[in-house]
Amino acid sequence: MKAVVCRSPGDLVLEDRAEPGAPPAGWALVAVSHVGICGTDYHIFEGKHPFLAYPRIMGHEVSGTVVETGEGVGLAIGEAVIINPYLACGKCIACRQGKPNCCVRIEVLGVHRDGAMAEQILVPAQNLYPANGLSLADAAAVEFLAIGAHAVRRARAEPGARTLVIGAGPIGLGTALFARIAGLDVSLLDMSTERLDFAKGELGFATLDGSQKAVAELVREATGGEGFDLVFDATGNTASVQSAFAHVAHGGTLVLVSVVKDDIVFSDPEFHKREMTLVGSRNALKADFDHVAASIRNGAVPLAKLVTHRTTLADTPRDLARWAHEKSGLIKAVIEVGS
Ligand SMILES: [Zn+2]
Ligand SMILES: [Zn+2]
Repeated sequence: MKAVVCRSPGDLVLEDRAEPGAPPAGWALVAVSHVGICGTDYHIFEGKHPFLAYPRIMGHEVSGTVVETGEGVGLAIGEAVIINPYLACGKCIACRQGKPNCCVRIEVLGVHRDGAMAEQILVPAQNLYPANGLSLADAAAVEFLAIGAHAVRRARAEPGARTLVIGAGPIGLGTALFARIAGLDVSLLDMSTERLDFAKGELGFATLDGSQKAVAELVREATGGEGFDLVFDATGNTASVQSAFAHVAHGGTLVLVSVVKDDIVFSDPEFHKREMTLVGSRNALKADFDHVAASIRNGAVPLAKLVTHRTTLADTPRDLARWAHEKSGLIKAVIEVGS
Protein backbone atom coordinates (compact mmCIF):
# COMPACT_ATOMS: atom_id res chain seq x y z
CA MET A 1 0.00 0.00 0.00
CA LYS A 2 0.98 3.64 -0.42
CA ALA A 3 1.97 5.55 2.71
CA VAL A 4 3.42 9.00 3.34
CA VAL A 5 6.47 8.54 5.56
CA CYS A 6 8.37 11.22 7.46
CA ARG A 7 11.84 9.59 7.34
CA SER A 8 13.52 12.38 9.29
CA PRO A 9 12.77 16.07 9.91
CA GLY A 10 12.12 17.77 6.55
CA ASP A 11 12.14 14.47 4.63
CA LEU A 12 8.61 13.41 3.66
CA VAL A 13 8.12 10.77 0.93
CA LEU A 14 5.48 8.52 -0.61
CA GLU A 15 6.55 4.90 -0.02
CA ASP A 16 5.25 1.42 -0.77
CA ARG A 17 4.62 -0.30 2.55
CA ALA A 18 3.37 -3.79 3.36
CA GLU A 19 -0.36 -3.91 4.09
CA PRO A 20 -1.11 -4.15 7.82
CA GLY A 21 -2.61 -7.66 7.42
CA ALA A 22 -5.46 -9.38 9.23
CA PRO A 23 -6.67 -7.67 12.41
CA PRO A 24 -6.09 -9.48 15.73
CA ALA A 25 -8.98 -10.09 18.16
CA GLY A 26 -10.61 -6.82 19.18
CA TRP A 27 -9.08 -4.88 16.28
CA ALA A 28 -10.31 -3.85 12.84
CA LEU A 29 -8.62 -3.06 9.54
CA VAL A 30 -9.78 0.31 8.21
CA ALA A 31 -9.47 1.70 4.67
CA VAL A 32 -8.49 5.32 5.25
CA SER A 33 -10.78 7.89 3.62
CA HIS A 34 -9.81 11.37 4.85
CA VAL A 35 -6.95 12.63 7.06
CA GLY A 36 -6.77 16.14 8.50
CA ILE A 37 -3.34 17.73 8.78
CA CYS A 38 -2.71 19.11 12.25
CA GLY A 39 -0.23 21.49 13.88
CA THR A 40 1.33 18.38 15.42
CA ASP A 41 2.03 17.00 11.93
CA TYR A 42 3.78 20.20 10.87
CA HIS A 43 5.84 20.02 14.09
CA ILE A 44 6.81 16.41 13.42
CA PHE A 45 7.75 17.30 9.84
CA GLU A 46 9.84 20.24 11.03
CA GLY A 47 11.55 18.24 13.81
CA LYS A 48 9.99 20.38 16.54
CA HIS A 49 8.17 17.55 18.31
CA PRO A 50 9.97 16.78 21.60
CA PHE A 51 9.96 12.95 21.74
CA LEU A 52 9.37 11.64 18.26
CA ALA A 53 11.04 8.56 16.79
CA TYR A 54 11.56 8.64 12.99
CA PRO A 55 10.63 7.25 10.53
CA ARG A 56 6.98 7.92 11.26
CA ILE A 57 3.72 7.71 9.29
CA MET A 58 1.79 10.74 10.59
CA GLY A 59 -1.98 11.28 10.64
CA HIS A 60 -4.37 11.18 13.60
CA GLU A 61 -7.47 13.06 12.35
CA VAL A 62 -9.05 10.22 10.45
CA SER A 63 -12.16 8.75 8.89
CA GLY A 64 -12.44 5.48 6.99
CA THR A 65 -14.43 2.35 6.32
CA VAL A 66 -14.10 -1.03 8.02
CA VAL A 67 -12.49 -3.61 5.70
CA GLU A 68 -12.00 -6.58 8.01
CA THR A 69 -12.65 -7.28 11.69
CA GLY A 70 -10.87 -9.43 14.26
CA GLU A 71 -12.61 -11.77 16.66
CA GLY A 72 -15.20 -10.20 18.94
CA VAL A 73 -15.61 -6.97 16.94
CA GLY A 74 -19.21 -5.87 16.41
CA LEU A 75 -18.62 -3.47 13.51
CA ALA A 76 -20.02 -4.24 10.05
CA ILE A 77 -17.75 -4.55 7.02
CA GLY A 78 -18.08 -1.35 4.99
CA GLU A 79 -19.20 0.70 8.03
CA ALA A 80 -18.04 4.33 7.91
CA VAL A 81 -16.13 5.20 11.07
CA ILE A 82 -14.51 8.07 12.94
CA ILE A 83 -11.17 7.03 14.43
CA ASN A 84 -10.32 8.04 17.98
CA PRO A 85 -6.51 8.06 17.68
CA TYR A 86 -5.70 7.82 21.42
CA LEU A 87 -4.80 4.20 22.17
CA ALA A 88 -5.05 3.64 25.93
CA CYS A 89 -3.84 0.75 28.11
CA GLY A 90 -7.17 0.20 29.89
CA LYS A 91 -5.42 -0.59 33.19
CA CYS A 92 -3.69 2.52 34.55
CA ILE A 93 -5.07 4.96 37.12
CA ALA A 94 -6.49 7.30 34.44
CA CYS A 95 -8.06 4.46 32.43
CA ARG A 96 -9.62 3.00 35.58
CA GLN A 97 -11.23 6.40 36.22
CA GLY A 98 -12.70 6.60 32.72
CA LYS A 99 -10.06 9.02 31.45
CA PRO A 100 -8.24 7.15 28.64
CA ASN A 101 -7.48 10.57 27.09
CA CYS A 102 -4.71 10.98 29.69
CA CYS A 103 -3.69 7.30 29.97
CA VAL A 104 -0.26 6.86 31.57
CA ARG A 105 0.84 4.70 28.63
CA ILE A 106 -1.12 6.53 25.89
CA GLU A 107 -0.08 5.93 22.30
CA VAL A 108 -1.44 8.40 19.78
CA LEU A 109 -1.71 7.15 16.20
CA GLY A 110 0.60 9.16 13.97
CA VAL A 111 2.70 10.33 16.93
CA HIS A 112 3.80 7.46 19.20
CA ARG A 113 3.04 4.83 16.57
CA ASP A 114 2.32 4.90 12.85
CA GLY A 115 -0.79 6.80 11.84
CA ALA A 116 -3.19 7.15 8.96
CA MET A 117 -1.39 8.89 6.08
CA ALA A 118 -1.66 5.54 4.33
CA GLU A 119 -4.26 3.48 2.49
CA GLN A 120 -5.00 1.19 5.43
CA ILE A 121 -4.55 1.11 9.19
CA LEU A 122 -5.22 -1.34 12.05
CA VAL A 123 -7.15 0.18 14.97
CA PRO A 124 -8.62 -1.27 18.20
CA ALA A 125 -12.38 -1.56 17.65
CA GLN A 126 -13.07 0.44 20.82
CA ASN A 127 -11.39 3.40 19.10
CA LEU A 128 -13.81 3.25 16.13
CA TYR A 129 -17.08 5.17 16.31
CA PRO A 130 -19.72 4.65 13.59
CA ALA A 131 -20.11 7.87 11.58
CA ASN A 132 -23.91 7.43 11.68
CA GLY A 133 -24.70 9.45 8.58
CA LEU A 134 -21.81 11.91 8.84
CA SER A 135 -19.94 12.13 5.51
CA LEU A 136 -16.43 10.65 5.54
CA ALA A 137 -15.04 14.14 4.83
CA ASP A 138 -16.83 15.59 7.87
CA ALA A 139 -15.97 12.56 10.02
CA ALA A 140 -12.24 13.35 9.68
CA ALA A 141 -12.80 16.76 11.29
CA VAL A 142 -14.31 15.36 14.48
CA GLU A 143 -11.02 14.77 16.31
CA PHE A 144 -9.56 18.27 16.10
CA LEU A 145 -12.90 19.78 17.10
CA ALA A 146 -13.21 17.30 19.98
CA ILE A 147 -10.05 18.82 21.54
CA GLY A 148 -11.91 22.12 21.91
CA ALA A 149 -15.18 20.47 22.94
CA HIS A 150 -13.32 18.59 25.68
CA ALA A 151 -11.65 21.77 26.94
CA VAL A 152 -15.03 23.50 27.12
CA ARG A 153 -16.51 20.58 29.07
CA ARG A 154 -13.52 20.63 31.45
CA ALA A 155 -14.25 24.30 32.21
CA ARG A 156 -17.74 23.55 33.66
CA ALA A 157 -18.84 27.12 32.88
CA GLU A 158 -22.32 28.57 33.18
CA PRO A 159 -24.05 29.83 30.01
CA GLY A 160 -23.33 33.51 29.45
CA ALA A 161 -19.86 33.37 31.02
CA ARG A 162 -17.57 36.00 29.51
CA THR A 163 -15.04 33.86 27.69
CA LEU A 164 -11.72 34.60 25.99
CA VAL A 165 -10.09 32.09 23.64
CA ILE A 166 -6.45 32.96 22.97
CA GLY A 167 -5.18 31.66 19.62
CA ALA A 168 -7.33 31.63 16.45
CA GLY A 169 -5.77 28.56 14.83
CA PRO A 170 -7.81 25.37 14.27
CA ILE A 171 -7.75 24.31 17.95
CA GLY A 172 -8.65 27.81 19.17
CA LEU A 173 -11.44 28.13 16.59
CA GLY A 174 -12.78 24.70 17.59
CA THR A 175 -12.69 25.73 21.25
CA ALA A 176 -14.47 29.00 20.43
CA LEU A 177 -17.15 27.22 18.37
CA PHE A 178 -17.90 24.72 21.13
CA ALA A 179 -17.80 27.44 23.78
CA ARG A 180 -20.46 29.25 21.76
CA ILE A 181 -22.48 26.04 21.38
CA ALA A 182 -22.32 25.77 25.21
CA GLY A 183 -23.89 29.23 25.45
CA LEU A 184 -20.75 31.11 26.50
CA ASP A 185 -20.11 34.70 25.42
CA VAL A 186 -16.95 34.25 23.32
CA SER A 187 -14.19 36.60 22.19
CA LEU A 188 -11.06 35.50 20.32
CA LEU A 189 -7.59 37.00 20.84
CA ASP A 190 -4.73 36.56 18.38
CA MET A 191 -1.70 38.46 17.10
CA SER A 192 -2.73 37.87 13.47
CA THR A 193 -5.21 40.34 11.96
CA GLU A 194 -5.78 37.92 9.06
CA ARG A 195 -6.87 35.11 11.38
CA LEU A 196 -9.10 37.46 13.36
CA ASP A 197 -10.72 38.82 10.20
CA PHE A 198 -11.65 35.22 9.38
CA ALA A 199 -12.97 34.55 12.90
CA LYS A 200 -15.06 37.72 12.82
CA GLY A 201 -16.15 37.79 9.17
CA GLU A 202 -16.80 34.10 8.59
CA LEU A 203 -17.64 32.81 12.07
CA GLY A 204 -19.08 35.93 13.73
CA PHE A 205 -16.84 36.06 16.81
CA ALA A 206 -15.92 39.20 18.71
CA THR A 207 -12.16 39.67 18.34
CA LEU A 208 -9.27 41.28 20.21
CA ASP A 209 -6.33 42.12 17.94
CA GLY A 210 -3.10 41.93 19.93
CA SER A 211 -1.10 43.25 16.99
CA GLN A 212 -2.92 46.59 17.23
CA LYS A 213 -2.88 47.36 20.96
CA ALA A 214 -1.54 46.08 24.30
CA VAL A 215 -3.49 42.95 25.24
CA ALA A 216 -4.03 44.09 28.85
CA GLU A 217 -5.76 47.19 27.51
CA LEU A 218 -7.93 45.17 25.10
CA VAL A 219 -9.01 42.90 27.95
CA ARG A 220 -9.78 45.90 30.17
CA GLU A 221 -11.91 47.48 27.42
CA ALA A 222 -13.76 44.25 26.63
CA THR A 223 -14.65 43.48 30.24
CA GLY A 224 -14.99 46.87 31.93
CA GLY A 225 -11.76 46.15 33.79
CA GLU A 226 -13.08 42.93 35.37
CA GLY A 227 -11.31 40.31 33.27
CA PHE A 228 -12.87 37.24 31.65
CA ASP A 229 -14.76 34.62 33.67
CA LEU A 230 -13.13 31.97 31.55
CA VAL A 231 -9.91 32.02 29.52
CA PHE A 232 -8.67 29.25 27.20
CA ASP A 233 -5.11 29.32 25.92
CA ALA A 234 -4.72 27.49 22.61
CA THR A 235 -1.50 29.11 21.42
CA GLY A 236 1.22 26.67 22.44
CA ASN A 237 3.21 29.80 23.29
CA THR A 238 4.85 30.12 26.72
CA ALA A 239 4.65 33.92 26.94
CA SER A 240 0.98 33.81 25.98
CA VAL A 241 0.16 31.19 28.64
CA GLN A 242 1.99 33.18 31.32
CA SER A 243 0.21 36.43 30.46
CA ALA A 244 -3.17 34.63 30.27
CA PHE A 245 -3.32 34.43 34.08
CA ALA A 246 -3.77 38.22 34.19
CA HIS A 247 -6.81 38.13 31.87
CA VAL A 248 -8.87 35.99 34.30
CA ALA A 249 -11.52 37.68 36.48
CA HIS A 250 -11.70 37.17 40.23
CA GLY A 251 -13.37 33.80 40.75
CA GLY A 252 -12.55 32.78 37.17
CA THR A 253 -10.96 29.84 35.40
CA LEU A 254 -7.97 29.37 33.09
CA VAL A 255 -7.94 26.29 30.84
CA LEU A 256 -4.68 25.26 29.17
CA VAL A 257 -5.75 23.60 25.92
CA SER A 258 -2.34 23.64 24.28
CA VAL A 259 0.94 22.43 25.74
CA VAL A 260 4.30 24.20 25.91
CA LYS A 261 7.68 22.61 26.52
CA ASP A 262 8.74 25.09 29.21
CA ASP A 263 7.89 25.62 32.86
CA ILE A 264 5.04 28.08 33.37
CA VAL A 265 5.68 30.86 35.90
CA PHE A 266 2.89 32.91 37.46
CA SER A 267 2.39 35.22 40.41
CA ASP A 268 0.89 33.33 43.34
CA PRO A 269 -0.55 36.47 45.00
CA GLU A 270 -2.37 37.29 41.73
CA PHE A 271 -3.56 33.67 41.42
CA HIS A 272 -4.59 33.48 45.07
CA LYS A 273 -6.46 36.77 45.26
CA ARG A 274 -8.60 35.66 42.29
CA GLU A 275 -9.17 32.20 43.81
CA MET A 276 -8.50 31.15 40.24
CA THR A 277 -9.15 27.63 38.94
CA LEU A 278 -6.42 26.30 36.68
CA VAL A 279 -7.49 23.40 34.44
CA GLY A 280 -5.45 21.15 32.16
CA SER A 281 -7.12 19.65 29.11
CA ARG A 282 -5.64 16.84 27.06
CA ASN A 283 -7.02 15.11 23.96
CA ALA A 284 -10.71 14.15 24.20
CA LEU A 285 -13.11 11.44 25.32
CA LYS A 286 -15.76 9.44 23.44
CA ALA A 287 -18.42 11.78 24.86
CA ASP A 288 -16.63 14.69 23.18
CA PHE A 289 -16.41 12.86 19.84
CA ASP A 290 -20.16 12.11 20.11
CA HIS A 291 -20.99 15.74 20.96
CA VAL A 292 -18.92 17.03 18.02
CA ALA A 293 -20.43 14.52 15.57
CA ALA A 294 -23.96 15.47 16.71
CA SER A 295 -23.14 19.18 16.41
CA ILE A 296 -21.87 18.72 12.84
CA ARG A 297 -24.98 16.68 11.98
CA ASN A 298 -27.32 19.40 13.27
CA GLY A 299 -25.49 22.14 11.37
CA ALA A 300 -23.98 23.95 14.36
CA VAL A 301 -20.40 23.71 12.99
CA PRO A 302 -19.55 25.60 9.76
CA LEU A 303 -17.10 22.94 8.60
CA ALA A 304 -17.08 24.03 4.96
CA LYS A 305 -15.47 27.29 6.07
CA LEU A 306 -12.81 25.61 8.21
CA VAL A 307 -11.50 23.17 5.59
CA THR A 308 -9.59 25.55 3.34
CA HIS A 309 -7.06 23.24 1.61
CA ARG A 310 -7.21 19.75 0.08
CA THR A 311 -4.66 17.33 -1.31
CA THR A 312 -4.14 13.65 -2.19
CA LEU A 313 -1.85 11.08 -0.60
CA ALA A 314 0.53 11.30 -3.59
CA ASP A 315 0.75 15.10 -3.37
CA THR A 316 1.05 15.24 0.43
CA PRO A 317 4.89 15.28 0.55
CA ARG A 318 4.91 18.41 -1.63
CA ASP A 319 1.85 20.15 -0.15
CA LEU A 320 2.48 19.47 3.55
CA ALA A 321 6.04 20.78 3.19
CA ARG A 322 4.67 23.95 1.59
CA TRP A 323 1.85 24.49 4.11
CA ALA A 324 4.27 24.08 7.02
CA HIS A 325 5.47 27.63 6.27
CA GLU A 326 2.82 29.12 3.89
CA LYS A 327 0.04 29.69 6.42
CA SER A 328 -1.80 32.52 4.67
CA GLY A 329 -5.47 31.59 4.28
CA LEU A 330 -4.83 28.15 5.76
CA ILE A 331 -7.11 26.92 8.52
CA LYS A 332 -7.42 23.16 8.00
CA ALA A 333 -5.97 21.04 5.19
CA VAL A 334 -7.33 17.57 4.48
CA ILE A 335 -5.81 14.63 2.58
CA GLU A 336 -8.34 12.77 0.43
CA VAL A 337 -6.96 9.22 0.56
CA GLY A 338 -9.85 7.04 -0.53
CA SER A 339 -13.56 7.39 -1.20
ZN1 LIG B 1 -4.43 17.08 15.70
ZN1 LIG C 1 -4.12 3.68 30.72
